[in-house]
Amino acid sequence: MALPRLELPTIQHWDCHVSGSCCKEYLVTVSEEERQRILAQGWDPEKDLDGRDPFVRRGPPWARRYHLNHRPDGSCVFLSDQGRCRIHERFGYETKPLPCRLFPFVLVPQGDHWGVSVRFACPSAAANKGRALPDHAAELREFAEQLVKREGLTPQADGTLAPPPPLQAGQRVPWPDLMRFVRALLRLIGNRKNRLERRMRNCLELANLCRQARFDAIQGERLDELLEILATSAEAQTPREPASLPEPTWIGRVLFRQAAAIYTRKDHGPSSGLARQGRAALINAAWRFAQGTGPVPRMHNWMPHTTFEQVEAAQCELTPAAEEILERYYLLKIGSTQFCGAASFGMSFWEGLEHLALTLPILLWVARAFSPLPPDEAIIKALSIVDDHFGFNPVLASLRQRLSFKILARRGETSRLIAWYSRSPVPRV
Ligand code: SF4
Repeated sequence: MALPRLELPTIQHWDCHVSGSCCKEYLVTVSEEERQRILAQGWDPEKDLDGRDPFVRRGPPWARRYHLNHRPDGSCVFLSDQGRCRIHERFGYETKPLPCRLFPFVLVPQGDHWGVSVRFACPSAAANKGRALPDHAAELREFAEQLVKREGLTPQADGTLAPPPPLQAGQRVPWPDLMRFVRALLRLIGNRKNRLERRMRNCLELANLCRQARFDAIQGERLDELLEILATSAEAQTPREPASLPEPTWIGRVLFRQAAAIYTRKDHGPSSGLARQGRAALINAAWRFAQGTGPVPRMHNWMPHTTFEQVEAAQCELTPAAEEILERYYLLKIGSTQFCGAASFGMSFWEGLEHLALTLPILLWVARAFSPLPPDEAIIKALSIVDDHFGFNPVLASLRQRLSFKILARRGETSRLIAWYSRSPVPRV
């Protein structure tokens, strides 16, 4: 049976510029087949790996998995002093674990094709450097085939690899119709008549309207027509000026800062922040984020020394270049459906979209922390920090966090936060 085809966005570029961050910053999970392959390569722990085992087993007792081992500085045991992969050097590129070759690409089954996203945690991806994604088609096709085997996915008779995520609890539509919702969101995000912040607020308004509607009897082109009407209505109902929205309430601010703490945290590798100082430092940081006054705890080594008050007062008016970067990011995350389903801890379509929308005020908040960097540079740094977590940090999928995202979205706080951190200059300290 033919495997699903690839859908490759032309807006995104990438090539490896050997920043080495992926081999120093991440825990690489290996399948049993990959583990056996590396064991068969005959690495001598004493001679080759500084006396370390090639693998460690991590995770809760019910889901322990093997990972490549790391040195105390966070780098993979197979990374040479010259910054090269020794598995690659000795045995060839194809013998590296699939996640090493796949990074920073993210492949998402979307009915009879794959959606492709990239992780902006890779500095080259955030900066859009390298060849356009369609130029990577051959390698991505190969990765897709290997991913099917590695994850034990079975192509169904209709050509799909996985069922579509629900729109919300108890509401499902088939893949072709789900992609109509995706296209409706893409039209809103790509609508340059609005500033990006309003485009995202439009998406949240559309989510709000769709959550109240039933789609069981409406399919195909009729669904397109209905979504067009709902999108027009969302546009009409979304306040034009961010300053006309009420400020976020204290509940919204507290939950927002807790999410910002998670999204700016780095526990592993050379960019790790406060986690190096132990548990007590992290508990203290959580308390300071809840209070929201004084110095911002440096959860990530890149975060500048600043205070919550300075971040609130900072100016970071988005230039057209910065808006384009964010537009690319959201077009990619939505177009690939990386924001929901299996790629995002099983979140429903609208839950995932509301979670994705919250990353915008977090990105704007982090970018303000980098002030006075030019806005596009600040946004690229913020994206590298924040997107490290999106779809990959299981803490974001905990019941507590999901409840917090739900409260923010349902109370309209996410829209208020987007508007608040888009005001320039922020009118109060
Ligand atoms: S195996 Fe090679 S490519 Fe993978 S993390 Fe280690 S050094 Fe990097």
